Amino acid sequence: MKLLVGLDLLKRKNKIENLKRTICDCKQCSVYCKIMPGYLVPDDIVNIANNFFFPIYETIESFFEEVFRASPGATIMVNSIIFKIPTIVPSRKKDSDDCYFLEDNGKCSIHEYSPWGCRMADSHMTREEGDIISKIGLAQILNSEGYIKIWNYLNSKNLISKSPEELRKKIQ
Ligand code: SF4
Repeated sequence: MKLLVGLDLLKRKNKIENLKRTICDCKQCSVYCKIMPGYLVPDDIVNIANNFFFPIYETIESFFEEVFRASPGATIMVNSIIFKIPTIVPSRKKDSDDCYFLEDNGKCSIHEYSPWGCRMADSHMTREEGDIISKIGLAQILNSEGYIKIWNYLNSKNLISKSPEELRKKIQ
């Protein structure tokens, strides 16, 4: 409960609507599209499903299986307690490690609805700025039962992403 209160306060303190998305697509930022796609918050799943769930997918489950993966999630510290919040991230292309949504021209095919971790953070932020953005996104996940259900579904199908810690090593 203490954790939830800590994250909720953080969420209220930083009004989500006042945050601006990043539009940077420099080489340094684009590396993340090839190594560590950003995580989604609950609204991202709704937006992506509403705009990209085409009839080629028989069911919404088959769409999720194609485009999303369950990640062990980020390790964060709130009120001096360290813990993990599972996240949902884009899947990868079949023939490379590139994000499923990365186009051949290096652009994001879902730019308008790109995941929280992609649109709200970029590689030019300080560690502190990045941590705040991340915690605001993670607080939204904690409030969503539906998000956890989708994560459990992907996990049960073994549709799993490597952890952010593992992936970050490839960037450094
Ligand atoms: S969703 Fe878009 S911005 Fe995010 S990693 Fe994939 S291609 Fe890049």
